[in-house]
Amino acid sequence: MPSTEFEKIVLAGADDHDLTRLSEYERVGGYQSLRKALGMERQAVLDELLAAGLRGRGGAGFPMGRKASFVPKPEQTTKPIYLTINADESEPGTFKDREIMQRVPHRLIEGALITAYTIGSNHVFIYIRGEYLSEFEIVRAALAEARDRGLVGANVLGSGWNCTIVLHRGAGAYICGEETALLESLEGKRGQPRSKPPFPALQGLYASPTLINNVETIATVPPIIEKGGAWYAQFGVPNSAGTRVFSLSGNVANGGNYELPMGISLRELIYDIGGGIPDGRKLKAIIPGGSSTPVLTADDIDTALDFDAIGAAGSMLGSGAIIAIDDRACMVQLALRVAQFYQHESCGKCTPCREGTRWMVNIIEKVETGHAQQGDLDLLLSVCDRILGKCLCPLGDAAAMPVASYVDRFREEFQAHIDQGCCPFGDSSSLDRILSPVQQHARLLRELAVIA
Ligand code: SF4
Repeated sequence: MPSTEFEKIVLAGADDHDLTRLSEYERVGGYQSLRKALGMERQAVLDELLAAGLRGRGGAGFPMGRKASFVPKPEQTTKPIYLTINADESEPGTFKDREIMQRVPHRLIEGALITAYTIGSNHVFIYIRGEYLSEFEIVRAALAEARDRGLVGANVLGSGWNCTIVLHRGAGAYICGEETALLESLEGKRGQPRSKPPFPALQGLYASPTLINNVETIATVPPIIEKGGAWYAQFGVPNSAGTRVFSLSGNVANGGNYELPMGISLRELIYDIGGGIPDGRKLKAIIPGGSSTPVLTADDIDTALDFDAIGAAGSMLGSGAIIAIDDRACMVQLALRVAQFYQHESCGKCTPCREGTRWMVNIIEKVETGHAQQGDLDLLLSVCDRILGKCLCPLGDAAAMPVASYVDRFREEFQAHIDQGCCPFGDSSSLDRILSPVQQHARLLRELAVIA
């Protein structure tokens, strides 16, 4: 990660030390927050998390302390209480949890232990994306070291409190990042979302109270406990406290993960830190929170990266993945690529998502290949409208929102495809043309017709 002038919290110390090793992590104060928390009342630890104003870093941005407060206290339930950590990072453009696990696995483990103690849990599951094999090995090795040191397992640090941590590998499905699908998968079932309510806080893993948080959220807990919620809340901006590890990618000179205070502008991130758009090209569009978020235009470059400002601009901060798109990109091709991804990842449980994503792909394919008719853009928006808010889980919205935004903000470009009967970019788009089997078949037939 390139260094910046900003104070790091989640990745603090990782530039100067090998924090995958327990001894090095302890050298920079590692596991002192756990010791401190174990000497506090559970409610006092929760109060610090509430004071910090930490919002979930997985995508929804729900306040972490409030979510933890929804879990029944141990004396209020006869069931076990679980903490489940979502490490199934799959949102296109997002790769920050990967770096956190690679570089500060003990901060994740320490955060997991503190959070489990806070909610009165003795069982933690870390559900890690199946493709993250090297990260799995790094976290597994860190866990083994922590167990040997008495930090995990029976009688943690002599406190009388027991806590096991199980590392579970996913099987490679985007939908398992949705919290209830993750729980189904963890229970050994097909990874499909559940109806809510009941919410996991009351009826989650094995029908027991369960708190689910993202890797970055949990890795932020130790510094909050070390220095206090008020200390953490001073970073960032109101309603978006602290720092965030932004994943910057696309047509930008210096892509990578950057831990920065919330509220920094897109211009600062893309130009000052990311080095701007390469090859002298112009910025055309920005995806501000992963592929599921509505696209912004170059005119939005001075928007601040915080929940409220991005919302006011008509999008979402999502997983904190910023994708810069230059003027060589065909927005229809981009819309097609996004729609194909969500069609492929739809679990098929509810009709608007299962059928609607297929319709979206078919219409955009026709636009891209010059076979669309006047009126097809309105049909596409109508399909999006029939998906939005009508599905069992957020994947439906995740598919429809960005596609509708591409049409809405780049309608002239879509219309030009229809009017000209072809892609105006030809083969010059910076995106590879993504052809489905149907498209490939259609192109083959056209080529054969030309030969004949
Ligand atoms: Fe499955 Fe899509 Fe329905 Fe979610 S919205 S439950 S992914 S079909």
